[in-house]
Amino acid sequence: MKYDVIIVGAGPSGLFTALELIKLNSNKKILLIEKGKRVEDRNCPKEITNHCVDCKPYCNITTGVSGAGAFSDGKLSLNTEIGGELPKYVGYDKTKSLIRYVDDIYLKFGADKNIEGIKNEESVQEIRRKAIKANLKLVVCPIRHLGTEKAHEIFKEIQDYIIDSGIELRDNLLVENLIIENNCIKGVKVLNSHDFNNGNIENTEKIYADKVVLCVGRKGADWLKRMCLKHNINHRAGTVDIGVRVEVRDEIMKEINDILYEGKLIGHPKPFKDKVRTFCQNPSGYVAEERYDNRLAIVNGHSYKRKKTSNTNLAILSSHNFEYPFNQPIEYGRKVAMLVNMLGDNKILVQRYGDIMDGKRTWQKELSESNVTPTLKDAVAGDLTSAIPYRPMMNIINFIQAMDVIVPGFASPETLLYGPEIKFYSNKVILDNSFNANIENLHFLGDGCGLTRGLMMASCSGVHMARILEEK
Ligand SMILES: Cc1cc2nc3c(=O)[nH]c(=O)nc-3n(C[C@H](O)[C@H](O)[C@H](O)COP(=O)(O)OP(=O)(O)OC[C@H]3O[C@@H](n4cnc5c(N)ncnc54)[C@H](O)[C@@H]3O)c2cc1C
Repeated sequence: MKYDVIIVGAGPSGLFTALELIKLNSNKKILLIEKGKRVEDRNCPKEITNHCVDCKPYCNITTGVSGAGAFSDGKLSLNTEIGGELPKYVGYDKTKSLIRYVDDIYLKFGADKNIEGIKNEESVQEIRRKAIKANLKLVVCPIRHLGTEKAHEIFKEIQDYIIDSGIELRDNLLVENLIIENNCIKGVKVLNSHDFNNGNIENTEKIYADKVVLCVGRKGADWLKRMCLKHNINHRAGTVDIGVRVEVRDEIMKEINDILYEGKLIGHPKPFKDKVRTFCQNPSGYVAEERYDNRLAIVNGHSYKRKKTSNTNLAILSSHNFEYPFNQPIEYGRKVAMLVNMLGDNKILVQRYGDIMDGKRTWQKELSESNVTPTLKDAVAGDLTSAIPYRPMMNIINFIQAMDVIVPGFASPETLLYGPEIKFYSNKVILDNSFNANIENLHFLGDGCGLTRGLMMASCSGVHMARILEEK
């Protein structure tokens, strides 16, 4: 079997590579490989069971065609400052025009025409004034909100369009190794996902191609790092984000929700002065759980267009770098997550901010005493401070106090903190502006190689990749 191009991973970056190749009337023979299921077969049983049933072979939230995107809240950030390092590789003007181009494609596939966060300049100035007082930077970012249910529909349309246009999609197929000869990619070794999950790793198949594009997302970051080590692909340790998901009542966040939809705030709180930021705000949304391959439970959040709660959630993430003698940020993040999971009986842990400040754990019965009803029903009340290391924990506490200046009530005793929220996009492959590392014809895209951090930028990286593939 021989293809011109193999795309590994059908998240937004892989799908937009395929879409753009179609748009460019490529006559290339293209194979798209995805280890999870097709969009229509992905569903999270938790909506019915109220608890995670640990789907096999993979968590349907993070794995499958449309990647982490299908079940994501679908907030498209329409700003070059948000979502990773693409501008460094293609330049700001080109990134801007890629954002416009990709946004237009999402609109054509049915995205909401409304853009959040661009009205009411005076009110934005007032929020910025309070942010300055709190020593935080406000990044204003227009947002197109697809909504969890709509994102699912849009990605189903995109998947079907790609298949109907003649690109071969093989789902439930895992790339377990790369075939590299004389420093040039020749193809990939694949394995059925169910076989892999059942430990039958003998039955591999080799698929050859002139070019391979790896867009394996955060979920594949660990595998990608192993590939880098095995095949001497240039990479370096990046940043790991350790944090929590905060949940408050909508009333508390009303001003920011109404004016900006998402308040992107960045600070460097004392004493460590590490970068700490808000991320992925979900007005009237749900706190969610995602599972990583080795069963790590990681917290996240999303919101539907129609189904609403009374709570807003957002992440507070503290960024950490390690150089010497330890340089494995993914491993660090994993160990923190394991510790938090251990204290939560392998479920997401939740603690009230007031209990943290009082130096006590939270008990399950205490959760019903406040105005905030947890939207993640099977989160276990406990003590995050026993598991999250001192430095990120202090960063989070100090940041919450700064947030209280902008959003009075944010640091209220009843505010809920869920953990662990960890971003595993920390291994950075060293790329040129064709997204090529030191192996000929092997390209890297999206969140998995540390290039992007979000739907919009991942999608833009796909479009740019396709144009490069077609040029050559
Ligand atoms: C709950 C949740 C909410 C989110 N909300 C937002 C949001 O509102 N806005 C936003 O901008 N971003 C959001 N994100 C992040 C966003 O989804 C990602 O940034 C984006 O999907 C990254 O795209 P990607 O193509 O790089 O990777 P992914 O979407 O992760 O796709 C990678 C794909 O590769 C597959 N894969 C991995 N390894 C292999 C392998 N070895 N063989 C075959 N296939 C493989 C995976 O199964 C996956 O489907 C959210 C994420 C989650 C989990």
